[in-house]
Amino acid sequence: MTEAKTDGAIKLAPCPICNKPAQLTTRPFCSKRCADIDLSRWLGGVYAIPAAPPMEGDEDEFMPAPRSEDA
Ligand SMILES: [Zn+2]
Repeated sequence: MTEAKTDGAIKLAPCPICNKPAQLTTRPFCSKRCADIDLSRWLGGVYAIPAAPPMEGDEDEFMPAPRSEDA
């Protein structure tokens, strides 16, 4: 992995999802969206995970229950 010498002209491979020019911040994808698409594809092919991964012991976020101590 030696891709250092870039004198201003940074060449990135096109986004593997939509073939648009990739961005440095989201490479090798053109955007966060394409990165997410690729990630979900990858995960979907290996693990069948739910859309919303559970947070660490924070399940109240997903099932809001009526609070009696609501001042
Ligand atoms: Zn893209």
